[in-house]
Amino acid sequence: MEKVTGSNGDFAVTVRKKARYVDEDLCTGCGACAEKCPTTVPDEFNMGLGKRKAIYKYYTQGIPSTFCIDAVHCRTFQKGKKCGVCEKICQAKAIDYKQEDKILELKVGAIVLAVGYDLFDAAKLPEYGYGRITNVINALEFERLLSASGPTEGHVERLSDLRDHELIHSGEKKLKKATKTLGKYEKKHKKSSADFYKEFTAGNISDGDEFAKWAKQYESVQEATKKLEALKAKAEKFDVATRLAFIQCVGSRDFRFNKYCSSYCCMHSIKEAMIAKDHEARTDAYIFNMDLRTVGKGFEEYKVRGAEKTGLNYVRGRVAEITQDENENPIIWYEETTSQTPKSLTVDLAILAVACEAPKGIEKIAEMVGVELDHNRFFKTDPLNPLDTTVPGIFVCGCAQGPMDIPESVAQASSAASRAAEAVAGKA
Ligand SMILES: Cc1cc2nc3c(=O)[nH]c(=O)nc-3n(C[C@H](O)[C@H](O)[C@H](O)COP(=O)(O)OP(=O)(O)OC[C@H]3O[C@@H](n4cnc5c(N)ncnc54)[C@H](O)[C@@H]3O)c2cc1C
Ligand code: SF4
Ligand code: SF4
Repeated sequence: MEKVTGSNGDFAVTVRKKARYVDEDLCTGCGACAEKCPTTVPDEFNMGLGKRKAIYKYYTQGIPSTFCIDAVHCRTFQKGKKCGVCEKICQAKAIDYKQEDKILELKVGAIVLAVGYDLFDAAKLPEYGYGRITNVINALEFERLLSASGPTEGHVERLSDLRDHELIHSGEKKLKKATKTLGKYEKKHKKSSADFYKEFTAGNISDGDEFAKWAKQYESVQEATKKLEALKAKAEKFDVATRLAFIQCVGSRDFRFNKYCSSYCCMHSIKEAMIAKDHEARTDAYIFNMDLRTVGKGFEEYKVRGAEKTGLNYVRGRVAEITQDENENPIIWYEETTSQTPKSLTVDLAILAVACEAPKGIEKIAEMVGVELDHNRFFKTDPLNPLDTTVPGIFVCGCAQGPMDIPESVAQASSAASRAAEAVAGKA
């Protein structure tokens, strides 16, 4: 949405439809293009924990089920690099590098603001080590690890283990290339690199630029092989993460950041711990909380079931600090308030239940449509008409109004649609 004019029942909205460089009428969603695309980048939908191609679908169930090209990373769009592989491979002839953004002018009677929320940046709490300690992650990253369609196909792995697997993969590739170069020297001089190196270091080979290069290459291959073997030996001992600590109220109920309770995070942590236990029975899950706010029909029973049937551990106490041991395992330092005892617990992964915040850029949207924001930066609503913003004909639903869970967001979406229909009919 780029521009809005008019008033209740008669708005003119300018919308930019971004070019996807794939014709959505022709694309069958087969994915052959992505399979062959040589460009791999971190996948935003998987919170950067997995990889995607430069031609991709943001997420599997996206509608329309059409691929799009990420022009920032695509070789064809980047100067000096030619590719065109997807165009050659696409049998539906859907690739269109010349597609441009389209500007749509819409005449509408009402507007619903449903722009959702952003996650609190846990790096603002340095004592929890997010961004510094590899195995401290946020709850959305954990959701991706838990997901069968996620980067680990539902196996909960420590991020440091994933990093090491990646290092092994890239190390093997580099080593293969370096060994190939050694092979060229060996072929030319008809001797193995090991024999050559013995003679070279004994001073039996006269100095020459090429021999010095060969010796250096041999040394670096030896060193890389040693490092790779050590990493592989370490990786053999990797196991799924079974000791999990969930840290509640990260950036919520904290007067330094957001005073409010984000309302859904107690429930999602219990859910995530239950699913983790379901995936791996050895899981030991601890949920550190000031209190667990399970507000909603059946929610308290769910929490009790989590403890009694699933064996989750609810620990009352706000976590003071997270450090790490020599194996990169997070150590949770906390006061167990029930016994007033300072304690620590070492886990495989620490999962931060970060606050729900108004999305970045909400001020720009508010200014564009002329509505007010509340003191927490969410869209301001009328207490008696909770879907109405400060401008008639403009409504809001879901987390754009404040933190809420999916059922409440969906119920609000239906209500906002009804209010919009009333506005169009001249009754709101
Ligand atoms: C880790 C985690 C786990 C959760 N688990 C659960 C759970 O199990 N059950 C549950 O009930 N709730 C859960 N929630 C809460 C749930 O995510 C929210 O209730 C829900 O996403 C709110 O829906 P929404 O449509 O308001 O916002 P969003 O889901 O944020 O959707 C808003 C959409 O608007 C798009 N958008 C934003 N700005 C623009 C723009 N300018 N133009 C076009 N599009 C735009 C965004 O890209 C986004 O797709 C969880 C939350 C977290 C963080
Ligand atoms: S042109 Fe090449 S890099 Fe770009 S999306 Fe197609 S296959 Fe990938
Ligand atoms: S829902 Fe739970 S974790 Fe989230 S802010 Fe409220 S009390 Fe804290």
